[in-house]
Amino acid sequence: MVIEKEFCKCVTSTSVYTIDDHWGYWLHCSDCNKKIEDEFHYYDEPDDVY
Ligand SMILES: [Zn+2]
Repeated sequence: MVIEKEFCKCVTSTSVYTIDDHWGYWLHCSDCNKKIEDEFHYYDEPDDVY
């Protein structure tokens, strides 16, 4: 099984967008539609307690 590291390699991204994941969200590059490395953010909302 080939594990591809598909992260954005753009030097500067025109814009980014977020895609929700299980524990947080990834920032994605609008230019190449790949994840931006080290741009995973955990949901850390203290008010979001049920
Ligand atoms: Zn990119």
